[in-house]
Amino acid sequence: MVTGDGAYIKKLNRSLILQEIIKNKMISRAELSKKTGLNKATISVQVADLLDEKLIYETRQEHNSIGRRPIMLSISGDAGYVLGIDLDTPNIQFAVSNLNGKSVEQTTVGLDTKDYHTIIPLLIKYIKEFKEKYSNCSYGLISTNIAIHGTVNKEEKIIFVPKLKWSNKDIKADLSKELDIEISIENNANLSAYAEKVYNHQSDNLLTLILTSGIGAGIMIDSQLHKGYHGLAGEMGHMIIAPEGKPCACGNHGCWERYASEPTLIEELSDLLQKPNVAYEEIKNRIANQDPTTYEYLKQFIRYLSIGINNIINLYNPETIVLNSEILKVYPNVIDEIKSNLKSSVSEYREIVISELGNKSGLMGACALAISRFLDVSDLILPVPEEQTDKNDTRTKKPETIC
Ligand SMILES: [Zn+2]
Repeated sequence: MVTGDGAYIKKLNRSLILQEIIKNKMISRAELSKKTGLNKATISVQVADLLDEKLIYETRQEHNSIGRRPIMLSISGDAGYVLGIDLDTPNIQFAVSNLNGKSVEQTTVGLDTKDYHTIIPLLIKYIKEFKEKYSNCSYGLISTNIAIHGTVNKEEKIIFVPKLKWSNKDIKADLSKELDIEISIENNANLSAYAEKVYNHQSDNLLTLILTSGIGAGIMIDSQLHKGYHGLAGEMGHMIIAPEGKPCACGNHGCWERYASEPTLIEELSDLLQKPNVAYEEIKNRIANQDPTTYEYLKQFIRYLSIGINNIINLYNPETIVLNSEILKVYPNVIDEIKSNLKSSVSEYREIVISELGNKSGLMGACALAISRFLDVSDLILPVPEEQTDKNDTRTKKPETIC
């Protein structure tokens, strides 16, 4: 039984009510009472507060031929916005989302530098522009959440970003000096796991494996992001699967990502095909045309991938494993092939799937986590915006209306 003072209970009830309104898109007070188990008087008081705060609005339901049309409640999506940033190289992606998780604007900015002291002013410039642009809504641009492709500790400081060669950077403090907006920093794989849960899988025990640069994992256990003592949990690419195996930049030999990540795949397939830096598109074409060399190599690659997945299943007993890979997405029956390699009688999981969010998952997770924190809704469920599923595009999408 939950006990506590009145304010605490009120906060819990508010969270439950907002959660149901978001999930259902439109819901009457009577339905809210049924779904939350809260009595009608509590619903009525809380709904009045949320209407005052302009976080929800009322509409009359249409097409109800019998009886009175009930008043329906919905989230005021455009009462405020959040900004997600995927800080990677060679591109930084920005996405503005409304409170319903709908993407209203996306911008991709190319980077021709890895210099921290050049990139920070660039981020400040863009964040200031977005903040100004959305300043007329009730809550304006509420917060920004930045996905980092490297290790981030619990104090939201960057430990290391391999592609940018950044070590020990307090990016949150450096941005906050110049910006009047709440800023959060989080590892990209963690945000991807959060996005997979919120937008697609609603699983409380979910693991996502991102193969695109090394192997990074985002882990949700009992609906919470699992970060470890320092905040660095999920560096599964450096799990050793081959004693005295291939050398790895981490200093060990035989790390999983030296056998089953996309950079390794590109490196080794380039050698086999005797073509330097074989491109993603070419690999996809070779898969489509059933090129024997590519197929034979991928069978071996998937065997190594399965060894790591086997270990992870035994460690975490996940409900859902989401594989985020550009190349495996186009390889036919990849999931069946992985499953056929998983022979242990003690390994239990419910499903292995390929990510539908692809390279937008970190950005979508950044926005979703910002919404969840602002509304204080712990179990957020959002619909996948059609334009945000992975199409690998770099369009700049202008919003139709702002606020
Ligand atoms: Zn390693």
